[in-house]
Amino acid sequence: MSKFLNNKLFRYVAVFLFLNLSTLPVKASSALAAWVLKNNGVLELRTKSNTNLKAYFQKANQIYGDRFWVDFPGELKNPRTIKGNGPIKEIRLGKPNKGKTRLVIEFKQETYLNPLNWRMIGLDQNRWRIKLFNPKYPFTKIGEGLVEKNSRKIKSSRNSSYTKLGVNDYLQLPNVKQNKFSVVIDPGHGGNDPGAIGIGGIREADVVLEVSKIVKKLLSEKGVKVRLTRKNEVDLDLPPRVSIANNSDADIFVSIHANASRGKKRDINGLETFYYRGGRGRLLAKRIQKHILRVSPGSPDRGVKHGRFYVIKNTKMPAVLVEIGFLTGRLDARRLEKTAHRKRIAYAIAKGILEYLSKIG
Ligand SMILES: [Zn+2]
Repeated sequence: MSKFLNNKLFRYVAVFLFLNLSTLPVKASSALAAWVLKNNGVLELRTKSNTNLKAYFQKANQIYGDRFWVDFPGELKNPRTIKGNGPIKEIRLGKPNKGKTRLVIEFKQETYLNPLNWRMIGLDQNRWRIKLFNPKYPFTKIGEGLVEKNSRKIKSSRNSSYTKLGVNDYLQLPNVKQNKFSVVIDPGHGGNDPGAIGIGGIREADVVLEVSKIVKKLLSEKGVKVRLTRKNEVDLDLPPRVSIANNSDADIFVSIHANASRGKKRDINGLETFYYRGGRGRLLAKRIQKHILRVSPGSPDRGVKHGRFYVIKNTKMPAVLVEIGFLTGRLDARRLEKTAHRKRIAYAIAKGILEYLSKIG
């Protein structure tokens, strides 16, 4: 593994959140007073009052498993590592730099988490809670100190410190003018045509249908009118897909596919987005490609390309065809078989679309 690739992988800090409260002076001792990770997957923290916390999540790479960490002001006296159990590999307390404390929870490589659903909740001025994993993973609680101690009486209103862990640059979807835009999403294949068949029999038609439905939901929540060319497992020929788009007032057309390599080579992975007409089509393709890459660390960027696919060639509005990974590739297929990753890809596509729509206004 080259140094370059390692650095590239490290760029993908997938999720982070900020809790903007006042900061302690740099010289102070650690603001982390006590913590416990319970057997139901809930992490509870006790800090000094009005502490400024920052929490992060990073997907597993070749070196580490999935990691969740929280940075606290104030310097930790004695860095330490605590062996984990169940889904937890280990918990580390360290000082990433002078005057800081970092609590790192590293998961085992095979653990599958869904950080999109994570929420850090401030229970009061000095207590925090976040649910990290499902109780279906057997786990014996680990912690230090008493989290409950000294906790002030819980305020009746919690909304001031209720923070969505989703406050991250790919989860935060841009706003566009409500009820202004209309989008056609085309889940590739369907019915008798399963599309690509990947590792373990995973079918392209199923994967792209689920992704497309999530994209529709996300865009609808932003006030964008969305039409799917197919809503279930039906065999839909290419011309009707084009007619659906051309007979509507759609601003854009996005066809969603997954790839297969010739000879089903397991080491071929990657993402690519095609456009037929340049200009706006290319801009849309670039936005989508950028965001799907960010949620697929380690999977190669096969680029934004000119393509002559029927559905993007014959639609009259800006149109793209996105290939969200190789179902025959070990890395991509392992991800695409999970709903959690399909959600991430859908978020990324929705984000690319919304960025494009807000740009063309
Ligand atoms: Zn396809």
